[in-house]
Amino acid sequence: MAIVVGTASAKPGTLTRGELRVGCMADGSPIRLPVFIASGVKDGPTVWLEGCIHGEEYGGAASIIEFMRSLDPNVLNGTIIGVPVANPASFNFRSRVSSIDGQNLNRIFPGSLGGSHSFQLAAVIGEQLEAHADYLIDLHSGGIGAEVPFYAIYKDDGGEVAQRSKDLAKRIGVDTIWRTPDAREAGGTVTAEALRRNIPSVTVECGGGTFTEQHLQDYLTSIHGFMQAVGVLSGEAPVQKQYTIISGGSFVHNREGGLFVPACKVGDILPQGAPIGRLVDLFGETVEQIDNPYPDSYIAALRCRFYPTHAGEICAEAIPVERREGL
Ligand SMILES: [Zn+2]
Repeated sequence: MAIVVGTASAKPGTLTRGELRVGCMADGSPIRLPVFIASGVKDGPTVWLEGCIHGEEYGGAASIIEFMRSLDPNVLNGTIIGVPVANPASFNFRSRVSSIDGQNLNRIFPGSLGGSHSFQLAAVIGEQLEAHADYLIDLHSGGIGAEVPFYAIYKDDGGEVAQRSKDLAKRIGVDTIWRTPDAREAGGTVTAEALRRNIPSVTVECGGGTFTEQHLQDYLTSIHGFMQAVGVLSGEAPVQKQYTIISGGSFVHNREGGLFVPACKVGDILPQGAPIGRLVDLFGETVEQIDNPYPDSYIAALRCRFYPTHAGEICAEAIPVERREGL
């Protein structure tokens, strides 16, 4: 039986493409998500693979395009639905938030068909997940003005689906996993929505700033690993000797504006009080020193070097190490 998403319809053994209409501009131009569907000849689960829910995080889109175009549906056990850009109104303006209503799509799930554009989009994505997805893999980066290390995030409510998400996060080629139990921070994300719908999911974080060959390879490693771990692709997903579980902590917001000068690298683990970076004004004077406010913390995001930064933006993420464990 063909799987249908918008105008994309895939019979077993085919790789097809189409579009899913999710809204409309004032001039009548439709807002559409690009959709690849690779449908295997053998039965198996359906994975929803999406990028650019934050439109400026375009490395995910590039990687999904590369991955989907390289697929041979004849070797798949199940189906992969690839959506390179899940938020066109954010992507078109290379912005983290929507150009139509200013919303951060990844904070407003489950959305509402009675709300503004981003709320409607969230509701449509939720409907699609409910209709098709057995698993979700959601690609993010630091965007244009920040960088992140290659790591995974999963939402933890203590249940079986969350445990499955964690097991999958361990099979995508990373050794650091952010466990987010806090519903206030995590509740409006697409992966929290997936959890509410009993769909195991993993967020992949990788790169930012420019999109390097290494970023592409890391994203592809994570996608391949995930597909192997759920059985859609054959072969053994990567395993690490040890995993660092991080949790708690938060975004670090600066109080002054200026150019951000980092004092550490993404992926560093800093003791409490260690310098993360500083802001210098346009005369080169330091106007704010940013130190790690938490105990031994993984630097999960960092503003790009000398990137212009307003007060109140996110200059870093510092996430304390919770524990280390095996598979
Ligand atoms: Zn993001």
